Amino acid sequence: MHFDVVTLFPEMFTALTKSGVTGRACEHGLTTVSTWNIRDFCEDPRKTVDDRAYGGGPGMVMLIKPLEETLAAIQKSHQQSGIESGPVCLLSPQGKTFSQKLATDMLKYSNLTLICGRYEAVDQRFIDRNVDFELSIGDFVLSGGEIPAMAVMDAMIRLIPGVLGDENSALQDSFVNGLLDHPHYTRPEIYENLCVPDVLLGGHHAKIMDWRRQRSLELTLKRRPDLIEAARANGLLNQDDELFLKELSE
Ligand code: SAM
Repeated sequence: MHFDVVTLFPEMFTALTKSGVTGRACEHGLTTVSTWNIRDFCEDPRKTVDDRAYGGGPGMVMLIKPLEETLAAIQKSHQQSGIESGPVCLLSPQGKTFSQKLATDMLKYSNLTLICGRYEAVDQRFIDRNVDFELSIGDFVLSGGEIPAMAVMDAMIRLIPGVLGDENSALQDSFVNGLLDHPHYTRPEIYENLCVPDVLLGGHHAKIMDWRRQRSLELTLKRRPDLIEAARANGLLNQDDELFLKELSE
């Protein structure tokens, strides 16, 4: 999977490409990331990337030309490497809310171009002519699209086969089976009178699985009842789950 990132702050992406799981994925060539600084595609000596909004109001708007020039350079690089350009995604609070399901679905692309906005907005004509879809990482406003782009990339990269040491760990994550993850414990067995639940020490695999499933259901019902409804609608709850949920609500 290859990512092209259009940004005014390419240096921010070293946080993703040099650290932790995503850093290792880049180091081992399981994913590749190219950053493209919009200022490199400005024609004027001042490297202007924004201007005031028509109609007035506070905040600056990103100019269409440098953005389109950056995209053209990305497309040219794809042609030179003989690869087909994938979709262009703008990070935006007005986009579709990103989710684990979208992270999984988007792995079908062999490359993805992410546009990181800054200032008040991006000229709408750029969006209309070049952007295939917009993604939001939640109902709040950040000062730029770099952190949202890294959130999207991280969520996708950790799903690429071979990236996580144990493939099963991604399968156990929250949202993968429609529920929140269960609690986890590690050594020591007793820490200042706080004990690890007995069932996890007994070595009985089936009982451990049941305990984990029930804690997952319990936590999801308490914190995200909407997910329980969605899991039910998607056929992800079995008879035992329903019995347990009934007991809980009684
Ligand atoms: N005026 C815009 C609005 O109200 O929707 C907010 C602009 S914000 C200050 C600058 C840039 O940050 C946006 O163009 C977008 O790229 C990025 N951004 C901010 N919050 C975001 C979010 N929740 N999800 C995705 N991108 C976001």
